[in-house]
Amino acid sequence: MSNRIYLCLAHMSGREQAFIQEAFDTNWVVPLGPNVNGFEEDLKQFTGGEREVVALSSGTAAVHLALLACGVGPGDEVIVQSFTFCASSHPITYLGATPVFVDSEPDTWNIDPDLLEKAIIDRISKTGKKPKAIIPVALYGMPYKIDRIMEIAAKYGIPVIEDAAEGFGSRYNGQMLGTFGEYGVLSFNGNKMITTSGGGALICKDAEAKKEIMFYATQAREAYPYYQHERVGYNYRMSNICAGIGRGQMTVANEHIEHHKALYELYCELLGNVDGITVHRKPSDKFDSNFWLVTITLDVSLHVKGEEKAYSKAVTGAVGGAAGVTHASSALHTECEPNANVEAMRMGLDALGIESRPLWKPMHKQPVYANAPAYTNGVSEALFKRGLCLPSGPCVSKDDVRFIVESVKSLIER
Ligand SMILES: *Cc1c(COP(=O)(O)O)cnc(C)c1O
Repeated sequence: MSNRIYLCLAHMSGREQAFIQEAFDTNWVVPLGPNVNGFEEDLKQFTGGEREVVALSSGTAAVHLALLACGVGPGDEVIVQSFTFCASSHPITYLGATPVFVDSEPDTWNIDPDLLEKAIIDRISKTGKKPKAIIPVALYGMPYKIDRIMEIAAKYGIPVIEDAAEGFGSRYNGQMLGTFGEYGVLSFNGNKMITTSGGGALICKDAEAKKEIMFYATQAREAYPYYQHERVGYNYRMSNICAGIGRGQMTVANEHIEHHKALYELYCELLGNVDGITVHRKPSDKFDSNFWLVTITLDVSLHVKGEEKAYSKAVTGAVGGAAGVTHASSALHTECEPNANVEAMRMGLDALGIESRPLWKPMHKQPVYANAPAYTNGVSEALFKRGLCLPSGPCVSKDDVRFIVESVKSLIER
C-alpha cells in the first residue's frame, strides 16, 4: 500500500500462512477443523481460561446469536448503547425485536448506568415487560462501567451481552472484557485489533452455552443420519482458513495491544498542550483500554483552516472503505453531523495523506431508527459533533504520530 497513513490496517505476523497451508495440506477447507478448534482454544486462554469461545463468521453474527440465545424474538425490546457501530443494534431488528437506545456518560463515552436503570423502569411501566437483554459497548476499546451495569442487570434479572468487538484485550479492574456478562462479542474484521480477514467470536459462560450457540451457527441440525430441522438456524461458523489467520494473529495480539497503548501515550504527550483539542483519556487505571482507536474532540471555538468550505462538496464513497456499496447521498447535510471545524480537520488531514474519521453517529440519531425508543442526555450527540478518530493501528509508527500531531497543529488557525 501507499505512504498514506490509515486509521487501523491489518498487520500480519508472518505465521498466518503456515496455519493456512496446513489447512490445505490436510484438506480442512471447510467451516470447521483444527484451526477453528485451535483458534477457539487460543481465545479461551487469552480471555482468562474460564469461559468457552465459539468462532463465527463475523461479530455481527455473534451479536445475533447471543440475542437469539437470550430468547429475543418478535415484540421484545433490547436495551443497547446508542453511541456505537450499527452491528450492535441491527441484529435486534433481524429478530423482529425493538432496540431501546440509551445514551452515554462522559467518562468512558459508554452506556450511562443511571440512565440505563431509568430506561429499564420506564420500559417496564410502559410495556409491562422487562427488556430481554442489555448491550453495553466498549467504544474504541474503552471499558464500560461494567460493575454498575452488572449490578443493575442483576437487580432486574436481565442478561448482559457485552459488545467487546472494539475492546479485544481491554480490561476492567484486571478482568478481560467479554467475560463479565452472559455473552461477550468479539470481532476480527480487517480493521479490528486482530483480524481473520472477516470474522468474530462469542464468549460463552460454559460448554453447554457454547454447544447451543454452535447448534444455531450450523443451521440447527438435529441428531439424525439425515437433515432434520426443528428450529431455524444460521450459517455463521468461521471457516478453517480464516481461523488459520486468527491463530497467526494470536501470536502477536499482545504486541498489537501494547503498540496501540504506546501510540495513545504519545498522542497524549504531544497533544496535551494544544489548546482546543482534547484526547479522550481513560478515567482511571481501572479502565485498561486497548486504545483500538485514539480519539480527540475539538472545541467548538477552535478555528480550522477551510472550515467555511466544509460540507460544500458531496463525498463519493462511504466511510470505512465501503465505496461502491453505498447509496448516493441526496444531500450535503443531515440534521446531525460533525461540526464544520471537525470536517475541515478531517479534509485537511486527508489532503496530507492521513486518514481520520468522525466518531460513530449515535443510533438514536439514525433515520433507520427514528421510531425506536431512546433515553438521551445529550452526551453522545455532543461528542459526535466534536470528535475525530486518529490513526492508531499496528501499521502506524511513532514517527507517524509525530507527523499527524504536527499536521493537526498546522491546520489550526489561531
Ligand atoms: C466491528 C464491530 C462489531 C462487529 O462487526 P463485524 O464487522 O460483523 O465483525 C460489533 N460491534 C461493534 C461496536 C463493532 O465496532
